[in-house]
Amino acid sequence: MKVGIMGGTFDPIHQGHLLAAERAREEAGLDEVWFMPSSTPPHKPNAPKASAEQRLRMVEAAIADNRYFRAETLEIRRGGTSYTVDTVRELKLQYPGIDFFYIIGADMVQYLPNWVRIGELVGMIKFIGLARPGYSSEVGLLPISIRGSVLSASMPQVGISSTMIRDMRKSGKSVRYLVPDPVLFYIEENRLYES
Ligand code: ATP
Ligand code: MG
Repeated sequence: MKVGIMGGTFDPIHQGHLLAAERAREEAGLDEVWFMPSSTPPHKPNAPKASAEQRLRMVEAAIADNRYFRAETLEIRRGGTSYTVDTVRELKLQYPGIDFFYIIGADMVQYLPNWVRIGELVGMIKFIGLARPGYSSEVGLLPISIRGSVLSASMPQVGISSTMIRDMRKSGKSVRYLVPDPVLFYIEENRLYES
């Protein structure tokens, strides 16, 4: 069984995340994609705006109607800073029969050389990289030691980010269609990202 891990802060989850997961699933022939909200992301200066529980609820709401998608709470349960290398090690121990792939957008493809213990990580898992406006997902630009571990899947460029959604909420704008409706309802009900 082949499983893609879609890791992220998901503050909130949006259509770009969902499309990336679906394109990766189809192009790499994945049986499932597991969405894994991080506890504290290592590379971000500010703490997430929404709580781990709220970010998980939004992920669950977004993927409920897709039988290939599920939510994985490993990083939230572990707490602290979420290093992918620790997570992948745990997943492989817990599910020895599963072939894992880690799904990332182009911003993260570019950033790969800076990931904590990347040398160890590329020995454990393959990445699937997807396009994102403003970043290059060109694998050839990566150091040789990393290049061979990154597969590419194609997707239309989607210029949506969680930051954009938080900013739009803050200035009172509608985020309808940027996030799936169930996520929109959750955001409005809980008055998230208003300030
Ligand atoms: P933020 O603006 O808070 O950083 P984000 O939109 O970048 O949020 P993350 O939770 O940081 O979302 O990203 C999780 C993963 O999804 C990363 O691998 C990221 O590259 C990827 N991703 C996010 N948005 C897109 C998009 N629009 N197109 C392709 N990949 C995306
Ligand atoms: Mg991001």
